Amino acid sequence: MVALDGPSGTGKTTVARKLAGRLSARYLDTGAMYRVVTLAVLRAGIDLADEHAIGAFAHDVDFALGTDPERPDVRLAGEDVAAEIRGPEVTGAVSPVSAVPQVREVLVARQRRIIADAVEDDGGIVVEGRDIGTTVAPESPLKIYLTASAEVRAARRNTQDSAAGRASSVESARESVERRDRIDSTRAASPLRAAGDAVQVDTSELTIDQVIVALAELARG
Ligand code: C5P
Repeated sequence: MVALDGPSGTGKTTVARKLAGRLSARYLDTGAMYRVVTLAVLRAGIDLADEHAIGAFAHDVDFALGTDPERPDVRLAGEDVAAEIRGPEVTGAVSPVSAVPQVREVLVARQRRIIADAVEDDGGIVVEGRDIGTTVAPESPLKIYLTASAEVRAARRNTQDSAAGRASSVESARESVERRDRIDSTRAASPLRAAGDAVQVDTSELTIDQVIVALAELARG
């Protein structure tokens, strides 16, 4: 198993999927789990400030997540929501929802089950998130923490949003990335941080392929 953590805009998702493909492993996008629960919270009209209501609701969200790195499906009550969970409404609400301890309890338990199944099947799994190396799977034999400068992260997020047809500018991307980082790294429940034994890789000056080559070497030991 590979635990791949770091803030947004570090290339984590692209790197995790490609690395999983290269290692013939499964892929788990834990951010998609927090996003799909956030979409369900928004659709249910729950007040984002109401932690109790969000926490209670999280137990009942009927979602499914695929672990094929070529095609990581995300479904909410059977509906394909892979595009909608990346939209601005969910992105703007996901960090406060993720800060609710009960949401994390439900999702971490689910993540651990998926990881245990993959490890049992012997195929391995690349798991990306914010707290994989620190909380979800501290026993992971390889922990990577990706970083990049704020400028580079904002520029990457802006390019991704524009490519997906979403209104964006480098300034708005930077504000959004910094706001999420602030909430993610200061929340009480498993905040974003590198595990003490994580290998830190600064991707600011590297291409995706360079990052993958470096990580695949680490993964093969
Ligand atoms: O990785 P992605 O940008 O899709 O994650 C969306 C949000 O989900 C993060 O900003 C964070 O609030 C939350 N998250 C989390 N723990 C994880 C993965 C994501 O809190 N393991």
